[in-house]
Amino acid sequence: MALREIIKEIEKLSTADQYRLKEFFVKSLNSFSASEPVFKEVSEQKHKDGYTCTHCHSHNAVCFGKYSVKIGMKTMERQRYRCKDCGKTFTDLTNTPLYRTHLPHKWLDFVQCIIEGYSLRKASEMIDVHFVTLFYWRHKLLSALKQMDFEEFSGIVEMDETYFLYSEKGKRNIDGCKSRKRGGSSKYRGISKEQVCVLIAKDRQKSTFSKVIGQGWIVKARLDREIGSKLTTLNVLCIDAWRAFKTYATEKGLEHYRFKSDGKDRVRGLYHIQNVNNYHSRLKGWIDRFNGVATKYLDHYLS
Ligand SMILES: [Zn+2]
Repeated sequence: MALREIIKEIEKLSTADQYRLKEFFVKSLNSFSASEPVFKEVSEQKHKDGYTCTHCHSHNAVCFGKYSVKIGMKTMERQRYRCKDCGKTFTDLTNTPLYRTHLPHKWLDFVQCIIEGYSLRKASEMIDVHFVTLFYWRHKLLSALKQMDFEEFSGIVEMDETYFLYSEKGKRNIDGCKSRKRGGSSKYRGISKEQVCVLIAKDRQKSTFSKVIGQGWIVKARLDREIGSKLTTLNVLCIDAWRAFKTYATEKGLEHYRFKSDGKDRVRGLYHIQNVNNYHSRLKGWIDRFNGVATKYLDHYLS
């Protein structure tokens, strides 16, 4: 059938059916055009030093036939590779959260929903994927991000701590304790075991460390265990008035500047902790949108 005839047929449809047809095109064509450039990018990044085996990291890999995937209405051909050393095959998606996902083209839309801070139910309605599936996708995505680590900080490192209320969201109450309403406040004043300490450190090249480092006050030994390997004497620390930081920096022989978070003395030339403070407030705002995050999942969200 020629395109002209198809258009004529479409004109005969009821308004409701025409609307349905439009929705169908928007869905199937958009997902196609949005995901293709991403696959190209993934492929180029992965093979920037030649084909590398995802299983044994050998560079002795070759193209090994194609396989087809259905994206929206279109069928696409994708490259498969084979490693000459370990004999295993892999694709551009092996070892990524997209591997063996039946709906790879919906992932981009889903990532967008996460960034916007939409609830899973809302995301589910928007991208038409069951919210239980999205629950698993979210954790897949967040744990993949968690693995993206870096070796060492460079230059100036801003370091500050922040606190989140301890939460067992999702866990049933069996010992008769009244659960705190989400977003509630601690019954203790100041820092207590009810609060979870999150350490955030950031250099000026945007390498960011943000991780739960325990409940209540944090001791310097814990600090060293978590972040010690990423700091060298080449780094200059910018820290807040917290004692543990100062003791830690002094003992480790690191040059450091201290800043009061509320004082006037906030910037000394290049040295300040404003990047890390901005990061805190954006982080809190973003996490608030999820209406409370269980502490055991907090690290996922931090990454
Ligand atoms: Zn291999």
